[in-house]
Amino acid sequence: MAPKPAPYDIDRLALAHSQIVDRIRTAEHQFGRNPGSVSLLAVSKRHSSTAIRALHGVGQRAFGENQAQEALEKMAELKHLDLDWHFIGPIQSNKTAQIAASFSWVHSVDRTKILNRLSSQRPTDLAPLQVCIQVKLGTEESKSGAAANDVAELITLGTELPNIQLRGLMALPPPSPDQATQRYWFRQLRELRDQLNAEGHSLDTLSMGMTNDLEAAVAEGATMVRIGTALFGPRP
Ligand SMILES: *Cc1c(COP(=O)(O)O)cnc(C)c1O
Repeated sequence: MAPKPAPYDIDRLALAHSQIVDRIRTAEHQFGRNPGSVSLLAVSKRHSSTAIRALHGVGQRAFGENQAQEALEKMAELKHLDLDWHFIGPIQSNKTAQIAASFSWVHSVDRTKILNRLSSQRPTDLAPLQVCIQVKLGTEESKSGAAANDVAELITLGTELPNIQLRGLMALPPPSPDQATQRYWFRQLRELRDQLNAEGHSLDTLSMGMTNDLEAAVAEGATMVRIGTALFGPRP
């Protein structure tokens, strides 16, 4: 009898990982970015601990999840591995304690109430929580993210709170197949970051770019790209 196919082909995952790292390095070179200035966040939502373990085996450490419960289960299964967990999904207030206790980064903070709760619930024996403010780009009502006008208040609060280290901005722009349009949205985020830094902040992170717009994001200054599909294949 033929063996049941493994749910994840470890060699295929390792190959996909090296191809994405190549795509990032090629884009850095093409757009005049310093080699190694863009880091890879592997978005493992909906994929198994087995797949995460395989990528850990080829050196990947940073993984992104967008549901607290799902992530906590994987963390428990993988607790012996040195992994950096990043929360990238919408945040409900009743999940902030779990998120503050288990993740090292949160990319998706878009309101002051959530930021205050994350700081007060961050266990003090852990390093400060690394935070990006998610900014709404475009006009779609459904998209989460802080309105551009509310970002300065969030940034100021983030720099004052004791258990938060404010790192930068994140966005999920309206999807477009066109690289010029993709770049247009990412440029809005970079210019907002530059403006905040000109006002005295020191934001070092732009979390932007996914499988379909990685190159545009690197061209516009991304420091962290969040890649799911190109690494793991389609989500089940
Ligand atoms: C799912 C997700 C990604 C990864 O998207 P892919 O297109 O699969 O690379 C990136 N960022 C966020 C916030 C996501 O929810």
